[in-house]
Amino acid sequence: MTVRTRIAPSPTGDPHVGTAYMALFNWAFAKSQGGEFIVRIEDTDVARSTPESERMILEALKWIGIPWDEGPDIGGPHAPYRQSERKDLYRQHAEQLVDAGHAFACFCTPGRLDEVRAEQRAAGDNPGYDGRCLALPADEVADRIGKGEAHVIRMRIPEEGTCRFHDELRGAIEIPYSQVDMQVLIKADGFATYHLAVVIDDHLMGISHILRGEEWINSVPKHQLLFGYFGWDMPVMIHLPLLRNPDQSKLSKRKNPTSINFYRDAGYLPEALVNYLGMMGWSMPDEREMFDKEEFMAVFDVHRISLGGPVFDLEKLNWLNGQYVRKLDADDFMDRLAQWSVNRDRLSELVPMIQERTEHFADIIPQVDYLLGDRRTLTAADFEHKKLDAEAVGEILYYVSQDLDGLRPWERDGLYALCQEQADHMGLKMRDFLFPLFVAISGRAISLPLFDSMMFLGSDITRLRLREALNAVGVSKKQTKRLDKRYRAFRR
Ligand code: GLU
Repeated sequence: MTVRTRIAPSPTGDPHVGTAYMALFNWAFAKSQGGEFIVRIEDTDVARSTPESERMILEALKWIGIPWDEGPDIGGPHAPYRQSERKDLYRQHAEQLVDAGHAFACFCTPGRLDEVRAEQRAAGDNPGYDGRCLALPADEVADRIGKGEAHVIRMRIPEEGTCRFHDELRGAIEIPYSQVDMQVLIKADGFATYHLAVVIDDHLMGISHILRGEEWINSVPKHQLLFGYFGWDMPVMIHLPLLRNPDQSKLSKRKNPTSINFYRDAGYLPEALVNYLGMMGWSMPDEREMFDKEEFMAVFDVHRISLGGPVFDLEKLNWLNGQYVRKLDADDFMDRLAQWSVNRDRLSELVPMIQERTEHFADIIPQVDYLLGDRRTLTAADFEHKKLDAEAVGEILYYVSQDLDGLRPWERDGLYALCQEQADHMGLKMRDFLFPLFVAISGRAISLPLFDSMMFLGSDITRLRLREALNAVGVSKKQTKRLDKRYRAFRR
C-alpha cells in the first residue's frame, strides 16, 4: 500500500501556522514511508472561502518549503482538489446513502431546530437533532421534495451503543453514540458539509493515514459510520496535539501572531520556522534542536510525538531564528536581507512617502525606522490625548482592529473608508480619531502618512500592532465584551 497523507485547509482567512505544522508532519510521515503528500482545499463553507485565502495558503507552504505531490494548482490523478468543484460527487454519494436508508431528508426549519435546542438545553441535555423527520413516509418525502420544499440530508446515527476506534497515537477511543448528532451531510443550498466531503475525498483520493488536529477527534464517530455505510475502510487516524499559547490556551491570534505571512513579513527565515514547528510535540532522538526538514523526515516516527500541548513560544522562535541568521555567510545574509525588504521594490513603495520630506539622505532613517523595523514598545501613557479619554482610545483601537481583521483586499481606500465611517459614528474629527492609530502603528503621534504606512507594513503587522496597542492601553475582559457588543451593533 502506498502511504498517502493530506492536509485539507479551509481557505477562510490568513495562512495559519497550524496549517504549516500539519503540512510538515503529514509531509514527513508520507515521505518517511516513501509515500505521497496531497493538498486539498476544503472550501465547502462557500460564504467564508475566498480564492485569495487559497492563494495565500499555497504561497505560504511554498515559502516554508513543504512541497506537495498533488494539489489544486498542480493537479493530479484525483483532480479536482478543490471541494467546491466536487459538488456532484457528494450529491451522488448522499443519494446512495438515502437509498440505503443511512441518511434521510429533513425538512425542519431553522426556527424549529432553535426551539428544540433551547428545550434540550433547558432540560440539561446535549443539544442535537431530535429525529423528527426520520419517520416520514417515503411518499410524503418524495412529494415534498417534488414540490421544491427546502430540506437538508442528515445521516443516521445508531440510537444506542458506542463508537470505538483506534488512534495510532492515543490508542483506543470510545465515544457513545448518544453524544453524536445526526449530522447534516447536504445543506439546503445543495452543498455538502465538511463531514460528508472529507470522507468521500479521503477515500477516493486513496488517503491511507489522516494526521490532523485533535479538535477533530469528536468527529470520528460520524466519519467512521460514513466509511462503514459506503463499505469503505477508514484510513489510519492520527490526531496531533494542538499548538498552544504560552498560557496553555489554544494558539490564537489574540496572543501570538498566527499568520505565516506575519513571520515572512517580519523577517523570519522559513527554515527556522519549519525547524521550530518540527519541535512542536517532537524532539529529535539525539536531542538536537537545530535540524532541517529532511533530517526531521529521515528519523520521523509518529509514535515519538508527545501529546502534552506543544507551546508555540515567540521568544523561543526568536532565539532559534537568531541561530539561523548568525549561521548565514555574509553573501547569504545580504541576499536574504534583500529578499526580505531591503530591495528596490520595497524602497519604491517608500519613495512617495519620504522624498518630499527629505533634505539629505540621513533624514530618511529616523522617518522609516518603524516601517523597516519594529516600533518601540508602548505604554498607556503614549495614548493620552486632550480630546480622547481612555475609553474612546480603547474603542477606536478595538473597532479598527476588528474591521481590519476582515478587510480584503488590503487597500488604502478601504482602510480610509472604514476609519472615516467609525470616526463619523463616534462623532469625532478624523484627526483626533486617527491619533491612537498613529501611536499604535509608528509609536509616535506624528509619523509618515498613516494609511501609506499601513499599506507598506501589510495586514499582518498592522493588525499585530493594533492588538499590542490594545494590550498597552489595558482593555479589560469586561470592557472588551462591551466594545464587542457595540461594534456588532454598528457593523450589523
Ligand atoms: N478543513 C478542515 C480544517 O480546516 C480539515 C480537517 C481534517 O483534516 O479532516 O481543519
